[in-house]
Amino acid sequence: MAACTLCEGCLDLLPEIFSLNPAGYIEVAELESYPEDKVQEIIADCPAQAISWEED
Ligand code: SF4
Repeated sequence: MAACTLCEGCLDLLPEIFSLNPAGYIEVAELESYPEDKVQEIIADCPAQAISWEED
């Protein structure tokens, strides 16, 4: 998430997934599955386009 501007939009929308770590970076929780619609929404809303899906 190099381009993240720390607008905290993702923290507001999906606090169960995104958190701010003590070093000042956004962290993504490791979950079995993600609420695809909401994640898609924040991907579209992130002003820095810093969020994307990753294959495992
Ligand atoms: S919405 Fe995007 S720019 Fe804003 S804090 Fe989250 S990752 Fe960073």
